Amino acid sequence: MALNVKCKCGVEINVAGVTSSLEPVPVYCVVCGTVTEHEI
Ligand SMILES: [Zn+2]
Repeated sequence: MALNVKCKCGVEINVAGVTSSLEPVPVYCVVCGTVTEHEI
């Protein structure tokens, strides 16, 4: 199951493989180096 989240810099990051959770999941952006949390 493919999921994409959008970094604050505008890049979409594929987070396929991350299990859906009620808690925010930290996602690392390889473009700007920022870790953002997303509810998946
Ligand atoms: Zn970014």
